[in-house]
Amino acid sequence: MGNCEYCGSPFPRTRKTRKYCTNRCKTNACLDKKPRLRAAEVEALHDVLHAEFASVDAMRERLRAILAPDLPPIPLVEGRAAIPRLD
Ligand SMILES: [Zn+2]
Repeated sequence: MGNCEYCGSPFPRTRKTRKYCTNRCKTNACLDKKPRLRAAEVEALHDVLHAEFASVDAMRERLRAILAPDLPPIPLVEGRAAIPRLD
């Protein structure tokens, strides 16, 4: 017996499936690893390719907004990375 690497259920290990209990779990695990981009995101990335940025950080911030909207934004001042002040 082994435990499915996706859902954790025990299943008999055979030569065909060593990691996942079913094909569905194999597929789901694969989709989790490689999330598909939505068409709108691909389009936004193409815009990044053709856009001009004031700095690398400005481009990083645009990429972050597309790919990881849940992460905190990179602070920019006039298109450049904002340097935190120590006061
Ligand atoms: Zn499973």
